[in-house]
Amino acid sequence: MRASQFHLFTLKEAPSDAEVVSQKLMLRAGMIRKTAAGIYSYLPLGLRAIRKVETIIREEMDRAGAMELAMPLVQPAELWQETGRWDKMGPEMLRLKDRHERDFALQPTSEEVVTDIARQELKSYRQLPKNFYQIQTKFRDERRPRFGVMRGREFTMKDAYSFDRSAEAAGRSYDIMFAAYKRIFDRLGLEYRAVAADTGAIGGDRSHEFQVIADTGEDAIVYSPDSDYAANIELAEAVSLLARRAEPARALEKTPTPGKATCEDVAELLGVPLATTVKSLVLATDDVDEKGNPAGVTVWLLLVRGDHALNEVKAGKLPGLKAGFRFATEAEILEHFGCKPGYLGPIGLQKPVRVIADRTVAHMADFICGANDEDFHFTGANWGRDLPEPELVADIRNVIEGDPSPDGRGVLAIQRGIEVGHVFYLGTKYSKAMNATFLDEDGKPKHFEMGCYGIGVTRILGAAIEQNHDGRGIIWPTAIAPFEVVICPVGWGKSQAVRDEAQKLYDALSATGVDAILDDRDERPGVMFADWELIGVPHRITIGDRGLKEGVAEYQGRRDVEAARLPVGEVLGHVL
Ligand code: ATP
Ligand code: MG
Ligand code: MG
Ligand code: MG
Repeated sequence: MRASQFHLFTLKEAPSDAEVVSQKLMLRAGMIRKTAAGIYSYLPLGLRAIRKVETIIREEMDRAGAMELAMPLVQPAELWQETGRWDKMGPEMLRLKDRHERDFALQPTSEEVVTDIARQELKSYRQLPKNFYQIQTKFRDERRPRFGVMRGREFTMKDAYSFDRSAEAAGRSYDIMFAAYKRIFDRLGLEYRAVAADTGAIGGDRSHEFQVIADTGEDAIVYSPDSDYAANIELAEAVSLLARRAEPARALEKTPTPGKATCEDVAELLGVPLATTVKSLVLATDDVDEKGNPAGVTVWLLLVRGDHALNEVKAGKLPGLKAGFRFATEAEILEHFGCKPGYLGPIGLQKPVRVIADRTVAHMADFICGANDEDFHFTGANWGRDLPEPELVADIRNVIEGDPSPDGRGVLAIQRGIEVGHVFYLGTKYSKAMNATFLDEDGKPKHFEMGCYGIGVTRILGAAIEQNHDGRGIIWPTAIAPFEVVICPVGWGKSQAVRDEAQKLYDALSATGVDAILDDRDERPGVMFADWELIGVPHRITIGDRGLKEGVAEYQGRRDVEAARLPVGEVLGHVL
């Protein structure tokens, strides 16, 4: 590829609404352009990286025995009504009507459609196991689309669904996917952790998230440096709480009724000393109308924090709390929820809140307000998500860091991550709801045992950049770089010798399958270097007349501090 024929358009500054580094760098490098909130166009440079991610995923899914298919983006309401999710999904599912007034949705996920396919296609146990996957556009009308491609509304997901005869066989399918995911993320060149995740209503221990380690991640991971223990914060919190309780079930039964919970109740419930000092309170909603006033469903997030933090919020210094948040005094909150001073968790506590040190840590909005997903469709307003600032990360650390690891090996530590993949054992949840059966060996119909497995293809780009960048730009892992090598000829327009040598090198690289680009724009070295460092190409070779006279070229790896002079004949070997 020649740079003059490619579309390159870099920006000195990112648009002012870009919040995180990956989003800024992708915009500046000319990989994406925002079309609407959470909806992006992928420019040729961005699409090259996406295609590389997709290829790795496809190869490993195929190797693991999964089969690619494609399911419709526009899906009929009837299928979603069969599982009850037409009502349950709430506003995150974008709905539309056709000209006959029939209801449809843009797929946020595809359990319903794939289960419908299975009940028509898979009639006998002899056809099992099967694993179908697609790499496809998803639409989720996220409450707060943000961070560029990391939390888009339209995004690309690889979603796979396994069908098995028995729970045991489904466990094997799960293990195969788990191993495939490890290969995928290894090949992508990312530092990641597979962490145990909450299985919610389904139960069991068969759910793992794959989290790319990055300080800017929205999720918190709890792990033991001395063992394999790793869980997401929600699960780790629950385990940690249960570990402190001799009889967790009874404790939950005793959970105070809405509006009646006192600090004492909670302290007693948790079996920890009560020493709570309420210093300041922030009352928050993240649902706002066009004017920025709180509207619609409101999430009340009660934070018990120091005055310092409250002042920071008021001064607008915590960007996570920008839109739609308003502030109230303790008295206002108490009045709103109709409780006495000293009350904790004003509208009741369906889940216990942990009391630590000298203050209350209500790190989950639904812990404190008792709202659960079903009632509010309330998704993802956990502490980490809304408050990603480093200062607040320290607060999360207080929650459980230093507790003994549940496996008894070492003490818990916390780091932040970005959820890039999720594997989940579903059991017969969907097959029962949709009466999807096959005939087993004994001639009787049986419900499929299912699993689902997602990877956020476009989110991976953002995650890779959050993990790998510096002051000059992106540093791509070679496997997903839009180009692996750039050749920068100095004096392209003037020197035949430079042109010849650059072309020779380009041809040699291309012949060995290296994805190279030749910068024939005849720009000054400084301009070329700044562009390619911003774009993040892993290897750069510079060729100029002066060097050629001595038979040398310059090589600089994207992480290298300075260029190395190499005999021209050795350059190729250096890059390969
Ligand atoms: P999150 O907790 O970040 O909202 P999720 O748990 O809702 O993600 P899943 O339903 O598990 O997401 O979907 C599988 C994968 O799709 C996720 O692991 C993530 O990588 C990706 N994904 C989910 N939502 C988005 C989004 N809004 N933008 C980009 N990728 C997404
Ligand atoms: Mg989500
Ligand atoms: Mg999640
Ligand atoms: Mg998930």
